[in-house]
Amino acid sequence: MRFDVLTLFPEIFSGYLTQSLLKLSIERSIVSVNLHNIRDWATDKHRSVDDRPFGGGPGMVLMPGPAVEAVEAVQQLVETPGRVVMLTPQGRPLNQRLVEELAEHPRLLLLCGRYEGFDQRVSDILQPQEVSLGDFIINGGEVAAMVVIDAVIRLTPGVLGDEESGRYDSFSTGNRLLEFAQYTRPRVYRGLEVPEVLLSGDHGQIARWREQSSRERTASRRPDLLQ
Ligand code: SAM
Repeated sequence: MRFDVLTLFPEIFSGYLTQSLLKLSIERSIVSVNLHNIRDWATDKHRSVDDRPFGGGPGMVLMPGPAVEAVEAVQQLVETPGRVVMLTPQGRPLNQRLVEELAEHPRLLLLCGRYEGFDQRVSDILQPQEVSLGDFIINGGEVAAMVVIDAVIRLTPGVLGDEESGRYDSFSTGNRLLEFAQYTRPRVYRGLEVPEVLLSGDHGQIARWREQSSRERTASRRPDLLQ
């Protein structure tokens, strides 16, 4: 799985890329994350990428030239064409279904906005999949791009130590229930005991208990999922 991230702040990713599952997946060449600074496609001597909005109003808007030309140039870096994803609060809200759709692409180009976002012509020309983290505003698309990468790599073969673990995650296709309650050692903590059945070694009973736990959790926390 190849990700190309187009951003004005590539340094934001440095800690994220060097930890845990993502670090291991990169070392094993299962995933690659390639950072590109949109400013490298600015054409004036000040390396400008933004300007005031036509029609007035606060803030600055990202100019179409650097963003469009950056995406076009990055597309050419390897033969496999990438699906362009623009991180924007005005996009399709991200959920596990959309993550599964994105994970079907071998390559994603993640376009991160800043300030008041991109000039409309960036979308008109590139026709990206616009993706939102939800109905709230964050300062830039970088955190949203990390969320997309984090969710997509869980579905990339070879990334999780145990392939099964992604399949049973809450919200996965074929699993309309939230995941069951999980326990680990110690068996008793502050007087709260791990349910006896989980210590029984009886796989049939454990599976039934987990199914019941999933149903109860979904009914109390997310009844909308049962409709
Ligand atoms: N003025 C814009 C609006 O009201 O739609 C918000 C711009 S926001 C401050 C700057 C950038 O952060 C956006 O271009 C986008 O890349 C990113 N961003 C902000 N909120 C987001 C969200 N909920 N989902 C995905 N990206 C978001």
